[in-house]
Amino acid sequence: METQNTYSQKQNFETVLHGSKKVDEYEKPVACGKSVNEIIKIAAEISKNRLGYKPEKSLRDIIESNGGRLIEDSPLPFKGYTLRQSCIVVEKDGKFTIYTLSRSESANRRFDIAHELGHYFLHYKLPNEENYANKPQTLLAARSVGGADEPEESEANYFALAFLIDKELFKNKYKEFYGDEVLLGDYFKVVPRTVMYFGKSLGDDYFPTYEIKDGKLCLKS
Ligand SMILES: [Zn+2]
Repeated sequence: METQNTYSQKQNFETVLHGSKKVDEYEKPVACGKSVNEIIKIAAEISKNRLGYKPEKSLRDIIESNGGRLIEDSPLPFKGYTLRQSCIVVEKDGKFTIYTLSRSESANRRFDIAHELGHYFLHYKLPNEENYANKPQTLLAARSVGGADEPEESEANYFALAFLIDKELFKNKYKEFYGDEVLLGDYFKVVPRTVMYFGKSLGDDYFPTYEIKDGKLCLKS
């Protein structure tokens, strides 16, 4: 039956993980409570300095060189279920696995993977490194369980935006491409919608404005 193969149904999702392991053996992400600006700063720092991310780099290589695994388009981790969306599992020894659909280097999947890295850093590493009262030992984050409106989900989304798009580089490329979302998306290897969301996260004052002079689009002086 099709419905039994869909873990987007909470009921099914909670049944089996990793064969004999159960979902309730893992801690769920708890929002870190940082502001959007703080999250953007944290994500940019991790992306640039800690992981050395660049749009032309492979996310798989970055994950693997940091002790993680990326498993694509696999029937795991839900025995008998088809993976419909990405998720991250952190084991007690700190090892993490990101499960995603195929084409992980495509623009859409890169956002999904960066979103899961957001859960890893904001909801697992940060509470442990900054000695929060509640330090998770494990983590299981799956987008289909929490809604996108949950605070921990939007934290992971902001993390993903700032992880994938460097603010200064964005500013330069925005000028170069006259704000064209498709060209910006191609450059940063994200979908145009992600470019738009990133732009919005920076606030209105951030953007250079344009005017039409002699039939040409020009930067407003
Ligand atoms: Zn999530």
